[in-house]
Amino acid sequence: MEEVLSSSLYTQQVKKLYKVGELLGLDNETLETLSQPERVIQVKIQIRGSDGKIKTFIGWRSQHNSALGPYKGGVRYHPNVTQDEVIALSMIMTWKNSLLLLPYGGGKGGIRIDPKKLTREEIEQLSRKYIQALYKYLGSDLDVPAPDVNTDSQTMAWYLDEYIKITGKVDFAVFTGKPVELGGISVRLYSTGLGVATIAKEASEKYIGGIEGKRVIIQGFGNVGYYTAKYLAQMGAKIIGISDSKGGVIYNDGIDVEKAFEIKQKTGSVINYPEGKKVTNDELLISDCDILIPAALENVISKFNAPKVKAKIIVEGANGPLTADADEIMRQRGIIVVPDILANAGGVVGSYVEWANNKMGQIIDDEEAKKLIITRMTNAFNTLYDYHKRKLEDQDLRTAAMALSVDRVVSSMKARGLL
Ligand code: GLU
Repeated sequence: MEEVLSSSLYTQQVKKLYKVGELLGLDNETLETLSQPERVIQVKIQIRGSDGKIKTFIGWRSQHNSALGPYKGGVRYHPNVTQDEVIALSMIMTWKNSLLLLPYGGGKGGIRIDPKKLTREEIEQLSRKYIQALYKYLGSDLDVPAPDVNTDSQTMAWYLDEYIKITGKVDFAVFTGKPVELGGISVRLYSTGLGVATIAKEASEKYIGGIEGKRVIIQGFGNVGYYTAKYLAQMGAKIIGISDSKGGVIYNDGIDVEKAFEIKQKTGSVINYPEGKKVTNDELLISDCDILIPAALENVISKFNAPKVKAKIIVEGANGPLTADADEIMRQRGIIVVPDILANAGGVVGSYVEWANNKMGQIIDDEEAKKLIITRMTNAFNTLYDYHKRKLEDQDLRTAAMALSVDRVVSSMKARGLL
């Protein structure tokens, strides 16, 4: 039991925060405050299932910090979602938004369900009920949800419709990641993957002599994993391993990303990819490669498998895939870890463009949006790289990234008299 508790994502995040706090000279009071979300709302959601029976689910929205602006972060649908996890993910969003200099605080939502076991109609009902329970706490200047694990532009369209019906406010900027017809930008769909690929390329240039021909393994083939693979292949990398929840495949001659995508669409999993060797997710993470991109769920690399990882660079496509112990092992082994709060921030930067567009009346076109995402990500990487080199070279990149983010949040809280 203790092992389970001490490995929770929240515990991991608090550990990482205290480490940074010590380096920044923050007192315990401040760290205690930053560890706690400003508000957590728990909701009971009941729907009538297609069999006529009532089904009950539990969901949350955690609003971690609003010192820099309205809360911002996705909503995930997953059978393992807990309140503790949602709080930890909202804390990660606070640091991510701060690091990317976005005018947002951090928030996150989740519903504890297995969407694979519900019909589309049931998921629509559930999504609408979630907004009925939470609309008072949402708004384009208050809290702006977006897609996350197992949610997408259709989910956002249901959210928006329900929000407008209840409040009478036709405010498209209250959700991001929407369909293009509802004020979305087409770039948002692939902006997280584009950002992960951009950062992997920058990191490769700085640390391993460029991206061309580098062998990449990606865990997870959802929105983030698929688009990361697609852009990295376009940049000249060789995708040699991919996986999803059913398992993975390693093919050293290089996986055809579009073929893998079609196979997943048709058969439900990339394990049916015809060439190469089938592996479990655990085997995939410790297979030989240059760049490893965990783009599925949290805590997949811990003290147990960290010593066996063979990659030279790890780029965190998912939120929180490495535990604090794994971070320390990678630092000792000289493996570069590009942290989630930078690596997967392309999604929320895309959201920011969409939100700003909705507020200003759709004046940024797709081409500009794409450029803005790439520029913001590249600038954030370079700022972090320089800061790490100048100030914290003996620490890992995450510690340096968090130092920049936490410092900005703390300064804004001090200016407002909150600390
Ligand atoms: N769910 C994404 C993340 O974890 C995007 C959040 C957003 O766009 O608000 O960063």
